[in-house]
Amino acid sequence: MSTRAGIGYDTHRLVAGRKLILGGVEIAESELGLEGHSDADVLTHAMIDALLGAAGLGDIGEHFPDTDVRWRDADSADLLSEACSFLEDRGWTIGHLDATVICQAPKLAPYRERMRNRLAATIGLRPLEVNLKFTTNEGVGFLGRGEGIAALAVATLERAS
Ligand code: MG
Repeated sequence: MSTRAGIGYDTHRLVAGRKLILGGVEIAESELGLEGHSDADVLTHAMIDALLGAAGLGDIGEHFPDTDVRWRDADSADLLSEACSFLEDRGWTIGHLDATVICQAPKLAPYRERMRNRLAATIGLRPLEVNLKFTTNEGVGFLGRGEGIAALAVATLERAS
């Protein structure tokens, strides 16, 4: 059995006039949303990069380029689902995912279970295998000033060989 780990990181700028989507869940109380070609869901994007990285399959920009009209305003859960199918096609089984979201406001803990359930259902894991952590940036830098949100993720994959 071989086990591989991959890391992912993403950040997007917060702007007016966009919905805030994190982990496939709308954070309705936020007046700002993330700017991007798709729904700009940084948490889901970091997880996609962690999964692609573990499988040695490059990064999200290669598979879902922002020049492709198919991904304009896309639900990032659809990208995550497609990335999981690339891995499964190559014989990989997803072990677990762990992620940290760096967001000054609003508090995300009340959304944790909804995000976890949506992500786990999309990936085909049990919710316990998708761990989500939230932190502020203690007011420091662009994340601390609420100019953007960032996410980091780690994924493990297993394959017989
Ligand atoms: Mg992104």
